[in-house]
Amino acid sequence: MGNYAVIGYPISHSLSPLIHNANFEAKGTDDNYAALSVHPDHLQHIRDLVASKELSGFNVTIPHKEAIISYLDEVDTDAKKIGAVNTVSIDGDRLTGHNTDITGYMNAFLEVFGQAKRRVLIIGAGGAAKAVHRAHANNGDDVTIAARRIESFKRFTDDDFKAMLISDITGTEEFDAIVNATPVGMKGEDLLKEMDIPESLISGSAVGVDLIYQPQKTKFLEYFADGHHMNGMPMLIHQAMDAYGIWTGEEGDYGAINKKYEEYIGGKS
Ligand code: NAP
Repeated sequence: MGNYAVIGYPISHSLSPLIHNANFEAKGTDDNYAALSVHPDHLQHIRDLVASKELSGFNVTIPHKEAIISYLDEVDTDAKKIGAVNTVSIDGDRLTGHNTDITGYMNAFLEVFGQAKRRVLIIGAGGAAKAVHRAHANNGDDVTIAARRIESFKRFTDDDFKAMLISDITGTEEFDAIVNATPVGMKGEDLLKEMDIPESLISGSAVGVDLIYQPQKTKFLEYFADGHHMNGMPMLIHQAMDAYGIWTGEEGDYGAINKKYEEYIGGKS
């Protein structure tokens, strides 16, 4: 039996236990996954927590994704590049950091839209944008990031993208994929109207991604043709499946997780 967990603060909102436990159930294992509230002042005691809970691996969420790095023995190349870890593997007393937001996003994107070299616009320049940028840059795509203020680009250690201000978007630029990596749309807002972005930015052939998964279809995604859009749920499931892969070497059960999530959402609405 393996004990797994997500650490964060606050943590009660996390869907990770639902996702991982649905996967364990589908795989027929008696592994378990818990949400552990870890106050920032207590992150320094992470090894004590790993020992006392007998963890075989854990996920890391807000606000610990950056701070956890100083308590790890090793961090993989991409997680190091974006300065954020969301998955920790444990080998004896060695803790290694990974970032499956990067791989999970790309696995979801390629599964839905297929492989191609694309001109990609990412709107927003926070933590999720850094993972999405790394994913598309690794895929050889031509990435532009649009932020509302120039200071946001200081968060990036890489420079393999073009930077622009959202207010400078004219609608004549040509992009094959446009990603909303801001929270705008969670409360029903129309991202284009909120940010004063001309609708002409979205061509008929463009694909759209919203990292938001609740609501399931934001107003932003309504600008894209049928079959040309994806919400944040496939990324969320794939990042969990990639963490499971790192911990166990096995593939997670996407269908079972998605079914459990749909039941959960159905029960809430
Ligand atoms: P974050 O680190 O706080 O970054 C948010 C970004 O959005 C920042 O660049 C911020 O601008 C920008 N922003 C916020 N409000 C804005 C506005 N009104 N106009 C223009 N820009 C605005 O948050 P995050 O962790 O990157 O998360 C972003 C979104 O992705 C959230 O909705 C989150 O739920 C979602 N997400 C989904 C997944 C998934 O698995 N599907 C994973 C991670 C995150 P500044 O740079 O000026 O601060």
